[in-house]
Amino acid sequence: MLERRLFTADHELFRDTVRRFIAAEITPHHDHWEEQGYVDRELWLKAGQAGLLCLTMPEQYGGAGADRLYSTIMIEEAARAGVSGPGFSLHSEIVAPYLMRYGTEEQKQRYLPRMAAGEIIAAIAMTEPGAGSDLQAIRTTARRDGDHYVINGSKTYITNGYNCDLVVLVAKTNPELGAKGTSLILVETGTEGFRKGKRLKKLGLKAQDTSPVLRRCARSGVQPAGARGGRYRLPDAGVALGTTDHRDSLGGQCRGSNRLDARLHPQPQGLRQNGVRLSDHALQARRAED
Ligand SMILES: Cc1cc2nc3c(=O)[nH]c(=O)nc-3n(C[C@H](O)[C@H](O)[C@H](O)COP(=O)(O)OP(=O)(O)OC[C@H]3O[C@@H](n4cnc5c(N)ncnc54)[C@H](O)[C@@H]3O)c2cc1C
Repeated sequence: MLERRLFTADHELFRDTVRRFIAAEITPHHDHWEEQGYVDRELWLKAGQAGLLCLTMPEQYGGAGADRLYSTIMIEEAARAGVSGPGFSLHSEIVAPYLMRYGTEEQKQRYLPRMAAGEIIAAIAMTEPGAGSDLQAIRTTARRDGDHYVINGSKTYITNGYNCDLVVLVAKTNPELGAKGTSLILVETGTEGFRKGKRLKKLGLKAQDTSPVLRRCARSGVQPAGARGGRYRLPDAGVALGTTDHRDSLGGQCRGSNRLDARLHPQPQGLRQNGVRLSDHALQARRAED
């Protein structure tokens, strides 16, 4: 395996902490969580206490002000250990950055420190029964009503959908304007009318709670997120939840799994294709990836 020079000694110390946390707090319970379909909330609190959530958020909002390689380590180590249950990366690498980038100061202060502590579990709700890759097709609407938004619609396939306390929800606030009339609305799940559906039974990621949420009408008791009227960037079509941050996450997951695969299935040295050893093909592919 190629030596990687991306990570400093500090990163590697952190990797050790993450590895020990996973071995002590996640691996022993993962089979049980797979059976029940979600991870226990206590894990989130423990991860918060260990400083493993919202790492890249500034310290003033409860984060560590860390660079994204720290988040990558979290993702790589979870993939290496084969523990897919905790929806930490969605919480820390998608929802927190959205809040950081588009939330008001009040929203950041109100939610980010508690997300970093694991007291609030966050989700993002874009997909609908009739709109996945093509986000412009979403039908959920949010209509301003005084200090509130009245939201109508249904969201599905929502990671952390069962455990979540806070949802960044995509809705049309001005349907005539298409994508430009789409907004991010922050909804606390205790909000009047907000409902969580039954957890979906999936082929994989069985300990990760994925549920429908919203189910028709909710009256959002909180201010909308700062992003309104298309000022934020919707994820790219075809990449599920494809913010730049999340793309790094997916890369980290693949790299972690690759390393696991390489350990479990060492490549035979003797096999050749068109006269080139298969292991050399792999080497070239990794160089291209780097
Ligand atoms: C485990 C899991 C967790 C998820 N978590 C969340 C979450 O937290 N929040 C959330 O909002 N959503 C979540 N999703 C939903 C996910 O974002 C959607 O599944 C994804 O956007 C694809 O939408 P779709 O399933 O409706 O597939 P479709 O959009 O119907 O696509 C089906 C297939 O057609 C292809 N396709 C679509 N359009 C084109 C095109 N124009 N050209 C060529 N090919 C095309 C796609 O690549 C795909 O292979 C989750 C999904 C899963 C499986």
